[in-house]
Amino acid sequence: MKERKTKIVIAGGGTAGWMTAIAMTRLIKNTEVELVESDNIATIGVGEATIPTMQFFHEILGINEAEFLKATGGTFKLGISFENWKEKGHKYIHAFGETGKGCWAADFQHFWLRGKLLGLKHQFGDFCVEQVAAKMGRFAKVKNKGINFAYHIDATKYAQYLRALCEKNSSFSRIEGKIAKVNLSENSGEIESLSLESGSTISGDLFIDCTGQRALLIGEALNTPYEDWSQWLVNDTAIAVQTESTEPAKPYTRSIAHDSGWQWKIPLQHRVGNGMIYSSQYMSDKDAEKRLLENIQGKMVTTPKKIAFKTGTRTQHWNKNCVAIGLSSGFLEPLESTSIHLIQRSITRLLELFPVNGIRGTDIDEYNQQTKVDIASIRDFIILHYVVTEREDSPYWQYHKNMEIPETLKHRIELFQRSGHVCLKNDELFEDSWMQVMIGQGLIPENYHPIVDNMSDQEVTKFLNDMQQLELKKASSLPPHHAYIHQYCPSKH
Ligand code: FAD
Repeated sequence: MKERKTKIVIAGGGTAGWMTAIAMTRLIKNTEVELVESDNIATIGVGEATIPTMQFFHEILGINEAEFLKATGGTFKLGISFENWKEKGHKYIHAFGETGKGCWAADFQHFWLRGKLLGLKHQFGDFCVEQVAAKMGRFAKVKNKGINFAYHIDATKYAQYLRALCEKNSSFSRIEGKIAKVNLSENSGEIESLSLESGSTISGDLFIDCTGQRALLIGEALNTPYEDWSQWLVNDTAIAVQTESTEPAKPYTRSIAHDSGWQWKIPLQHRVGNGMIYSSQYMSDKDAEKRLLENIQGKMVTTPKKIAFKTGTRTQHWNKNCVAIGLSSGFLEPLESTSIHLIQRSITRLLELFPVNGIRGTDIDEYNQQTKVDIASIRDFIILHYVVTEREDSPYWQYHKNMEIPETLKHRIELFQRSGHVCLKNDELFEDSWMQVMIGQGLIPENYHPIVDNMSDQEVTKFLNDMQQLELKKASSLPPHHAYIHQYCPSKH
């Protein structure tokens, strides 16, 4: 007897929907993938800065990088410039690469701390080639992944690009239509089918909710609770606007803190994405828009768009036969560009735990447990930016100064402050990032590891100076970012 194909139904065609569709279509055999979306319901239309893990996602899917960047007007991103975060007028770059070289017992920050006591002038980031190159506006891909990078992309064009790839596959189909009802089985409570306004019905085995903030399947139909994290991350609104480019694209995202929120600038080949993220408790929409428009360059190419959101997460990301991916599963503000990363993590996790011969409770529990740990760690990393700061110049910053923070974050901050250690669990993201942000925001450890004292003062000084010169030499040998894009992946837009 011929085995029946597993049918995966993806509800929603934003970034989450199309990333899920291409992965399921290309990587899971003996499945039928159907994506339903409504042209009358717009996607969120933002989400343009990424982190380096996107390279891996594209590698496993066999996506051609130059072709993808041409199609999305993409640029390279070496990190994020945090401006006015530690204090007004201060800036540092959280770059994606490794900073310096340490030894088995002590990471590089311990050597740098001793160097500082000996009068070293170089900043921590001066030992990271990605950071040095970002400041110089230089970029090139180098052999053996010698430069770590991510991308800036046009979100709408990315979804279109993935859709075109999906539609080349005979096991995939897209259905245009508005979902009017989610039908549940009376016995199991699982999703049986989706009824569309047109009257047609889509049934399936596994349903992926990519309907964005509406969360039609996981939230509305299955009533999966939403855990609110707004006591730590108080921002709840964004205003986004696109402008014409006025200068060659910088190889980094800019994040500029304001009195009651922060502003992003994401340079693409053909335009710049801008926005203000703020808390409606501390700033009115009118003031936020005014502040944003006063701080953008170039002619606007869209009208400013307001987006409300609630920071938090579903208590279960996989519930019965439904997995929530993207905004339906929760939201953390884009300060560290982690949402698209979380989408791809959800997809790869689902692929790793893909149900064979039916869905079991153990698959669901494992998936939910792993997801929970992942998101909580990123949540802490984002909160870090608001609490390790000297800013207390407005009620917004005073609130952050005095708020209670998660125990897990408190532990990390105290550990680093006392002894310079950053201890991450297994495959947690961001080891160098934690260090760069803690030091960038002004948290300097009180002590360094005694193993560093095995070197004499002269040896430490020479070791650090030589390393810094090497990073400078490597960065100086790279071409300007825009010149590299021009020859590698020029977009026609
Ligand atoms: P959406 O884009 O909202 O898509 C929902 C889909 O569901 C649409 O196709 C819609 O048509 C469909 N749909 C909804 N209801 C129905 C219905 N009844 N019938 C049929 N179809 C339906 N992430 C990053 O990684 N980097 C960033 O820089 C970044 N910046 C952001 C800035 C802001 C202000 C915000 C709010 C988010 C940002 N994000 C960022 C997050 C990122 O935008 C999202 O994670 C990503 O776009 C995924 O969205 P989505 O596909 O889940 O939802």
